[in-house]
Amino acid sequence: MKCPFCNHEESKVTDSRNTIDANAIRRRRECLSCQRRFTTFETLDLTIQVKKRDGTFEDFQTEKLVRGIAAACRHTRVSHDQVVALANSITKELIERQIRDIKTSDLGKLVMERLKATDMVAYVRFACVYKRFKDVEDIMDVIESATKKGEAVK
Ligand SMILES: [Zn+2]
Repeated sequence: MKCPFCNHEESKVTDSRNTIDANAIRRRRECLSCQRRFTTFETLDLTIQVKKRDGTFEDFQTEKLVRGIAAACRHTRVSHDQVVALANSITKELIERQIRDIKTSDLGKLVMERLKATDMVAYVRFACVYKRFKDVEDIMDVIESATKKGEAVK
């Protein structure tokens, strides 16, 4: 990346911010020669594939993740803003870890990790769908183990 002021070839990144909605990374750079600062935008190649249970693939979409999490969080204290932030943080993690494909079950685990820390009711609901609990007993096990750890269950 050439410096726009002096054309020097080398610069260092001083700050990078992912703006997931725009599928771009904004980087603040500092020229190693003239020390002037400039901003670059790098477009992400967001072709992450989600491998479904039946073995087929589909494009990963943050929007779809938002819908899935929102469904689990209905009638809980989790706000829509929190749902969007959660989905964005998962998208960011996939990009940063340079993941090209992920199984729905693994994607579900990433969601559950975060929901567990956010809202227990939403967590259990989401877990029901993703873990496909066999019966009510399994769901009770999750609630019970969570209660034992001292976490509030509404
Ligand atoms: Zn320069």
